[in-house]
Formats: sequence, structure tokens, C-alpha cells
Amino acid sequence: MLCASICHTDISGTKGFPHTNFPIALGHEGVGVIESVGDQVTNLKEGDVVIPTYIGECQECENCVSEETNLCVTYPVRWTGLQPDNTSRMSVRGQRLYHILSCSTWSEYMVSDANYVLKVEPTIDPIHASFISCGFSTGFGAAWKEAKVESGSIVAVFGLGAVGLGNNLICLCQFFLTSIHDDNDLVTCVGTGKAIVIGAGTEPILPLGLLAILLGRTLKGSIFGGLKATSDLSVIANKCHKKEFPLQELLTHEVPLADINKAFELLKQPNCVKVFMNMSH
Ligand SMILES: [Zn+2]
Ligand SMILES: [Zn+2]
Repeated sequence: MLCASICHTDISGTKGFPHTNFPIALGHEGVGVIESVGDQVTNLKEGDVVIPTYIGECQECENCVSEETNLCVTYPVRWTGLQPDNTSRMSVRGQRLYHILSCSTWSEYMVSDANYVLKVEPTIDPIHASFISCGFSTGFGAAWKEAKVESGSIVAVFGLGAVGLGNNLICLCQFFLTSIHDDNDLVTCVGTGKAIVIGAGTEPILPLGLLAILLGRTLKGSIFGGLKATSDLSVIANKCHKKEFPLQELLTHEVPLADINKAFELLKQPNCVKVFMNMSH
């Protein structure tokens, strides 16, 4: 790993979401250089710079060929803390250490299935590359792929972390889940409104008034902002490489890996958006 950053789902990971298998090595944002590849890996080689993607894209399954979803059937999101071959590649004092999703970027080295990484330009800014591996892209994708926001669209963004700030964005992000208290809080327009829920909420159940939905509104859940892990994320990675996004404005704090616990405290501060870790420090 070259560097990694922190996303809200890592905090949820300490509380048993998306799974309750512990101990767990957290971190699903980052960027690294391939140190070695397995015998059957043909599309990547030693020295390639990659970012982890916790969802794959086979480009052949019924979901990948559809324009409706990014949820690849062949390489799905891993909810068990294990790699696709049902192993963990980490241990601590002889005990199995679980991955978060198919990642675990808060580490000097990470083992990944080759179908769960995206190769990026080696000259990409590593901090920016780390940010697009989840948070920023999830927000950007929710606007682009899920809400399909157009010029003139009226939008509301709930949550002003990196997800909500991902572009001039559009999405109703994780805080949306905790902000709905009654029907009137589903703030989309009668008949045409659409709300996109992304990110890990603090509660597993979403209270929702029937009338809000009966009036023709749409509430849609989304993983990774609806982005396909190769075809869509590579578009974002290219824009990131050309510095078309002001990603440096998301960076508010940096900590060494050894001080990762401090990062959890920093994230509670109102002036904290993104915490970054340089693995070489
Ligand atoms: Zn697929
Ligand atoms: Zn994330």
C-alpha cells in the first residue's frame, strides 16, 4: 500500500457492519503498487498502480450487461470478511483476521482478488486516488448513475462528508437514513421525486411512512453510487488523474498508520472531512 484513507463504513465495521466477524483489518480506501501476482492473473503485473474496488465487474453477467445496476453477479460485494475463495489472507498471532469487504487497506500489504482492483495511471496523485476508491466516487456516482441529475435538476444533499461533497453532488447520503423522522422529511417532489440512499447508516432499519411512497416518490438504495467498478470508475480515475476534481479540498487531516485510533477521534470533529495515511511514514 502507498496510502489509505478513512471512510464511514470503516467506523461501521467496528460496530459489526457489514458483518460481525472479528478481529477485522479495516480500510477500504487506498492505493497501492502491485508487489506480485498469482499464476492465473493476466491483466495485471508487478509495478502496476491499483486502487481496491469492493465490487467487481465481469462485463458478461446479466447485471453487468444491463444498464440498470452495478451489482455484478460473478464478482459480488463480499459481506463475510473473506475473499471470494472464502479465505482470509491475514492473521494475527495465529488467529484469522477478517477483511472488510474484499479489502483491508490500513496495512503495509494487502492481498486482493485481481477482479476487485482497478489499474490507474502511475502518475495519479496517490491521495486523490485513495479518495476515489470509495467515498468521493460513491457520492459522484449517486448523482451521475443513480439520480441521473441533469442541468436544472433540484437536489438536496444530506451529509457533508466526502460522499456528500463528491462533486456538487446530488445524492442523499448516509446521514439521510438518520434524518427521516416523518413523511414530510422525505423531501422529494410528489410524483417525480427520487431519493438515493448510499453509504452505511447508523441504524439497520429505515422508518418510512406509506403515504410518502404512495404519492409516487421513489426511494432507491445504492452500493458504490451505482458505479460499475471498471467501466465507470475508470472514467472517474481518468478525470482524477487530469485533476478535474478539486479533491485536495477534501483532505483535512493526516495521521501515521500507528495513530489510526486518533483518526476515529478526528472524524468526530466538525472540521474533519478526510483523514489520510501515508504508509511510508
Ligand atoms: Zn458481472
Ligand atoms: Zn466507503
